Amino acid sequence: MKTAPFDLTGKVAIVTGGNGGIGLGMARGLAQAGAAIAVVGRNEAKLAAAVAELAQVGARAIAVAADVTDKAAVAAMVSRVAGDLGRIDILINNAGINIRKPPHALDIAEWDSVIQTNLTSAFLCSQAVYPAMKAAGGGKIINIGSMMSIFGASFTPAYAASKGGIVQFTRSCACAWAADNIQANAVLPGWIDTDLTKRARKEIDGLHDRVLARTPAARWGDINDFAGIAVFLASSASDFVTGTAIPVDGGYSIMG
Ligand code: NDP
Repeated sequence: MKTAPFDLTGKVAIVTGGNGGIGLGMARGLAQAGAAIAVVGRNEAKLAAAVAELAQVGARAIAVAADVTDKAAVAAMVSRVAGDLGRIDILINNAGINIRKPPHALDIAEWDSVIQTNLTSAFLCSQAVYPAMKAAGGGKIINIGSMMSIFGASFTPAYAASKGGIVQFTRSCACAWAADNIQANAVLPGWIDTDLTKRARKEIDGLHDRVLARTPAARWGDINDFAGIAVFLASSASDFVTGTAIPVDGGYSIMG
């Protein structure tokens, strides 16, 4: 018999950028559902705090300091997780940054850094976990997109390109690895209250109120809004769901 649809007991998850923001919200959900978690990021203090928090809900959690744009660091991270936690069932590609400039003002180093952090890292991490998932008989990959996977904005050329790309990358993995019982899906957050958007709110006049007016739920998202979707897409509840891009946005993307 299959396990209960939302049970992650015995599963091992890697969450990039799981040391804060949306990644931590997802890691909390997975931990509550019984998974062991490897939290990946660069900031050691944030990593330690996240691991301590996840351990408090009874989860096995380890911190792995790694820059997910670095192929060798990603390979070392994946082998550390497989060694310490014994297997890899779930990968959440969540690490991301934004540089807010119009296309004519963005230099190539800025473009590269956004594309590498938001898109290339998902390729590197997915490719690195594939052998372990295949050997385990299946797996779940969850990639974090954005409203910029759907819409454009004058100040986000590289970010929107990376987030549009992540949806197409997700579909490609879903097709390529379906025969290995690996499901790949994307989550598209609306406007969520995190460090990333705190800065944007300071920099952009009126942003806070515009988001409230445009969002049918009439609030900013909270990182805990991502626990449920993470558990769904990481568990057997979603075994026939693959290649999708699911908005978690309080209705932002359907507002006319
Ligand atoms: P945060 O800034 O809170 O989190 C981003 C995380 O990514 C940090 O924990 C950071 O950890 C990690 N990170 C960044 N670069 C690297 C790197 N090179 N290597 C390893 N880790 C890295 O932002 P959010 O939680 O808001 O963002 C999470 C994801 O959600 C991003 O992909 C973002 O684009 C997306 N998103 C967010 C929205 C929002 O409204 N907040 C809306 C739509 C999408 P560390 O500093 O330790 O490296």
